[in-house]
Amino acid sequence: MKVRSNRLDGLGTTIFAEMSALALRTDSINLGQGFPDTDGPDSIIDVAVEALRSGRNQYPPGLGIPELRDAIVAHQSRWYGLELDPATEVVVTTGATEAIAGALLGLVDPGDEVIVLEPYYDSYVAMIQMAGGIRRPVTLRPGGTARGQAGLRPRGTDFRLPIEELRAAVSPRTTTILLNTPHNPTGAVLTEDELRAVAAVAIEHDLVVISDEVYEHLTFDVPHIPIATLPGMRERTLTISSGGKSFSFTGWKIGWATGPAELVAATMGAKQFLSYVSGAPFQPAIATALGSDADYFDAFRAGMQTQRDQLCDGLARLGFDVFVPDGTYFATTDIRPLGHEDGMEFCRSLPELAGVVAIPHQVFYDDISAGRSLVRWAFCKRPEVIAEALTRLERLTRV
Ligand code: PMP
Ligand code: GLN
Repeated sequence: MKVRSNRLDGLGTTIFAEMSALALRTDSINLGQGFPDTDGPDSIIDVAVEALRSGRNQYPPGLGIPELRDAIVAHQSRWYGLELDPATEVVVTTGATEAIAGALLGLVDPGDEVIVLEPYYDSYVAMIQMAGGIRRPVTLRPGGTARGQAGLRPRGTDFRLPIEELRAAVSPRTTTILLNTPHNPTGAVLTEDELRAVAAVAIEHDLVVISDEVYEHLTFDVPHIPIATLPGMRERTLTISSGGKSFSFTGWKIGWATGPAELVAATMGAKQFLSYVSGAPFQPAIATALGSDADYFDAFRAGMQTQRDQLCDGLARLGFDVFVPDGTYFATTDIRPLGHEDGMEFCRSLPELAGVVAIPHQVFYDDISAGRSLVRWAFCKRPEVIAEALTRLERLTRV
């Protein structure tokens, strides 16, 4: 009996499942998997409840309900000036995860090369492999020379995209660049210059860009620029986002992809055989959420920024070398100032050492050495939970 295909070779169990299970088993504070410990607005939950009660419980249209597709189109126009046709240029998916899967299965042929930013979100690797593609990582590297010193890193020494390495990664087999900004796990937000350089490479080599922008509303004092807004890019970019991150409903799994009709059709072509359709009663709720006024987004971002500073300041005080992120809800630290070398060993022993769970970067690299001593911490947790985690982590400095 054959029990497994080689499409799963090397993929193992996702680090997020491993670390969340570890947190539960050891009763640790989970600063690993990125999910908020506070739900999104009650008024949005009310819309979902009303949908459940009013019979919106059967298969919705495969592309998504018109109301949600219109809301996604309105959102892209309002925030970015991107104009889309709701009939052909939007598809609703089961989280951004399914949009990524659908896009890669629908656009990548066996042997095609896909350039991906490293450290990479784990589902990119899995789906490139399942599509038969070959990943070509381009590593985001800390700028400046200061490394491994305790405290907050000075600005300009965070993770940046090495453009020459991106250029060098293109081969005649390259078909796609898979971008992620704001970037998980580093928290880097690509600058306009970096995005222009990526756009130039994509246009020169006639590549498709798949741009994962799930943290689009979580940037701190820097703008989020969708690459689709740059000249020549709308026609070659599939942009992906999700209601999970922007509205704190990660369990609802309502995501979407937008872009030119052919790219959306390819994604839909695969999506129809993955989930067929996505969460009917949650779609009207996310449609309402997308229309939230600017105050909602401002307050959401400001709260997260305060939590970012609380966590980063606390980790710096404890002696970590801290990269303060410009976006996402994750902060990265180098653990070497505390006498640790290996992030995986550190994270596996952290529940015992301090009753806290975090995520080792190294699982997101082909060449583990580049991320061996880096660890990611989520700050999408209530301030009192972050405070308790920091208190527990003081135990690390007493050994
Ligand atoms: N992309 C990135 C960069 C993520 O961090 C996540 C996790 N939320 C996803 C995609 C998946 O999003 P969703 O939960 O909507 O499937
Ligand atoms: N995106 C979240 C993270 O990076 C959760 C992902 C997941 O559980 N697959 O932590």
